Amino acid sequence: MSHPLFDIRGRVALVTGSSRGIGRALAQGLAEAGCAVVLNGRDRHALERTRAELADRTGATVHAQAFDVTDPGAVAEAIPRLEDLAGPLDILVNNAGMQHRAPFTEFLTEDWHRLLETNLSSAFLVGREVARRMTARGSGKIVNICSVQSEVVRPGIAPYSATKGGLKMLTKGMCADLGPSGIQVNGLAPGYFDTELTAALVADETFTAWVRGRTPAGRWGQVGDLVGALIFLCSPASDFVNGQLLYVDGGMTSVL
Ligand code: NDP
Repeated sequence: MSHPLFDIRGRVALVTGSSRGIGRALAQGLAEAGCAVVLNGRDRHALERTRAELADRTGATVHAQAFDVTDPGAVAEAIPRLEDLAGPLDILVNNAGMQHRAPFTEFLTEDWHRLLETNLSSAFLVGREVARRMTARGSGKIVNICSVQSEVVRPGIAPYSATKGGLKMLTKGMCADLGPSGIQVNGLAPGYFDTELTAALVADETFTAWVRGRTPAGRWGQVGDLVGALIFLCSPASDFVNGQLLYVDGGMTSVL
């Protein structure tokens, strides 16, 4: 039997951006741990496909709520609706995100705004709406999906790094504001993971050789590598952990 400190059976969790990739794997991990899970994304068909697959695979209660996490009106409307459907949220994972690469001097203003809205404003909007409700109940766990780029950078992704660095400080600020109400807000910071977001990099042999050489674990992360850390951050085992970033990067950020 697993340790009671890691028991999250019966909790209700929302994972934003969970129709594929990291969000999908995190939602599956929570469902396998006994949570009822609400999936989110913009593409209704992809979302419904994932909902049916996860429900089938895990036997858990899996809901799907399509809305755009960058739209303040849609978020304000969606959170009460999904709580009516699934029950009060115990866990929020702010995962929805995007990447766009370009040399700094060629970066378009619209791409800067798209990155900022998708990777940072979304966590503020969804986090604020959910935190209002968690505060009234006096408990909750919020996990913001940050990145190694919250800490270190590479050429071509300055705006992405700015959003992830901002998310790190939003995590700490939310911890300061919400900790007294019994809510923990932490960051989970993946290294390089093989998903649709990184497909072009995975296919690039030079880049993949760089990732392998730069990562003490010697490989790309696979989405399942993140699940154990998420369960820790959502469980009573982390009740006194607040405002921290947990790097799951095969050691990448620790070495020069
Ligand atoms: P993917 O591109 O594979 O998946 C992104 C998910 O977010 C999709 O489900 C997408 O669905 C959803 N999404 C995007 N924009 C919105 C929006 N405006 N509203 C609602 N949902 C949205 O990305 P990953 O799984 O690779 O990345 C997930 C998170 O992990 C991101 O925050 C990313 O920055 C972070 N990360 C990823 C790393 C990696 O190496 N892959 C490394 C470090 C961090 P839809 O298109 O239908 O809206």
